[in-house]
Amino acid sequence: MQLEEISGVDVIVVGAGNAAICAALAAHEAGAKVVVLEKAPETEKGGNSFFTAGATRFVFNNLDELREVLDVSEEEARTVDFGTYTQENFFDDMGRVTQYRCDPDLTEILVRNSRRTLAWMKSKGVRFEPMYGRQAHKVDGGFKFFGGQVCAFWGGGAGLIDSLHTIAKKTGILILYETGAVSLLSKDGRVCGVLADHDGRQNEISAGAVVLACGGFESNAEMRARYLGPNWDLAKVRGTRFNMGGGISMALAMGAMPCGHWSGAHAVGWDLNAPTFGDRVVGDGFQKHSYPFGIMVNANGERFVDEGADFRNFTYAKYGLEVLKQPGMFAWQVFDAKVDPILRDEYRIRQVTKVDAASLEELAGKLEGVDKRRFLETVAEYNKAVRQDIPFNSVIRDGKCTEGLRIPKTNWANTIDTPPFQAYGITCGITFTFGGVKVSPSTAVQSVSGKHIPGLYAAGEMVGGLFYFNYPSGTGLVSGAVFGRIAGTEAADYARRPQR
Ligand SMILES: Cc1cc2nc3c(=O)[nH]c(=O)nc-3n(C[C@H](O)[C@H](O)[C@H](O)COP(=O)(O)OP(=O)(O)OC[C@H]3O[C@@H](n4cnc5c(N)ncnc54)[C@H](O)[C@@H]3O)c2cc1C
Repeated sequence: MQLEEISGVDVIVVGAGNAAICAALAAHEAGAKVVVLEKAPETEKGGNSFFTAGATRFVFNNLDELREVLDVSEEEARTVDFGTYTQENFFDDMGRVTQYRCDPDLTEILVRNSRRTLAWMKSKGVRFEPMYGRQAHKVDGGFKFFGGQVCAFWGGGAGLIDSLHTIAKKTGILILYETGAVSLLSKDGRVCGVLADHDGRQNEISAGAVVLACGGFESNAEMRARYLGPNWDLAKVRGTRFNMGGGISMALAMGAMPCGHWSGAHAVGWDLNAPTFGDRVVGDGFQKHSYPFGIMVNANGERFVDEGADFRNFTYAKYGLEVLKQPGMFAWQVFDAKVDPILRDEYRIRQVTKVDAASLEELAGKLEGVDKRRFLETVAEYNKAVRQDIPFNSVIRDGKCTEGLRIPKTNWANTIDTPPFQAYGITCGITFTFGGVKVSPSTAVQSVSGKHIPGLYAAGEMVGGLFYFNYPSGTGLVSGAVFGRIAGTEAADYARRPQR
């Protein structure tokens, strides 16, 4: 369909990732005629949501509540320890990792709606699966989950996007690819559509309300350098190349209030030789998240973080920045044979920067760019500092720590002494940016004067105020879904009010 043929639209949704399609489905459910505009071509659909493992975090107090989202067989119910994840756990995790800066109203909405929203997605046809490979280890013959996160969207991000787009299509929602929103249209202070660009041709599309769900500015090197600081322009982008901050800029141009941690971002240890942007085949396989079971060294051959400060779920998103700060912006993760069986699946892919050796001396010679002598001293000092009297246990914070080091290791501190040794080269991979626009609890975009901008809603990565400094794993998709659903419902309601 040509842009100029589009008319009678109630709600325009900008973006076609998870938050956007949830918004579109909710708006349609509320009776609105919805059009989705997506800048990427159909072959690159799904935004960052596509690149995820689909891991998701939600509140459940017992097996029945877990089953509202995840299909758990009777055998699994008997043999697997899923644990529970209470509202208090979720609030605590959000508070602790964001240094208690997360917006209390938005956090409350996220936590209280987490299970309900995923169950709503399930009712539409989205499926979930347990994350045995990444979030559970075998204990006494059965699986035990850790880190407060037990399941993922079925088929990961690719599966999630495939289901959401199939459902949207069946529902009759029109998605226009290679069609970017350029700016917002307004009349008498109300947002009433967008100026859209397809193939260099620009057209105005009118609508009763607009939902912006088109990501942060992580893909935009200029904005990264401007807001995050020096060297962020050199970080690798883990996901889509299309999240250029356009939605945020459009909203700010309409007078929206900037909000959240504009100099902060979710960033992880990412393969040193990964491409500049995400690879749709490798997906999140370039991440390297088993560092709590080894050590990380920089070019000086020195450790620079407490690798075992917490479950990786609560440290990985802030350690990308620590890698960025190291000389040459790289590090090596070092493991010995004792922990090889529990390294995550991403360590076994073909596209990996890996060296191995039968001795530490040999390994030292293979760690490109690293001071060999200092590396060997670091390992020797570390091994000497490990508390041998505390048993290792990967599924709890085991307290197996080091003693007397300048940078301690708090949990899972095994000696590195059993060949073969292996090491993985990493750099900083940015996932998404934390700064965005301020929204009300009903996702209405707030102006700099503290009022709703009539007709404008936002959801997903581009909402500011939820994440500061760090992030609990598996929260991006669920927050996109929770606020996307609210945004779609509210936008439909606004668009269909008689005052139009
Ligand atoms: C490698 C990787 C792994 C991750 N793993 C997980 C995980 O396991 N669990 C989890 O919860 N989170 C994970 N995340 C974070 C998660 O991807 C995001 O939090 C979430 O997907 C954001 O959803 P969104 O809908 O806001 O944005 P996106 O899914 O990025 O969608 C935004 C869309 O907007 C489009 N767009 C941008 N500008 C315009 C414009 N001007 N006009 C029209 N369209 C536009 C983009 O093309 C894109 O399709 C991961 C991210 C990455 C990159």
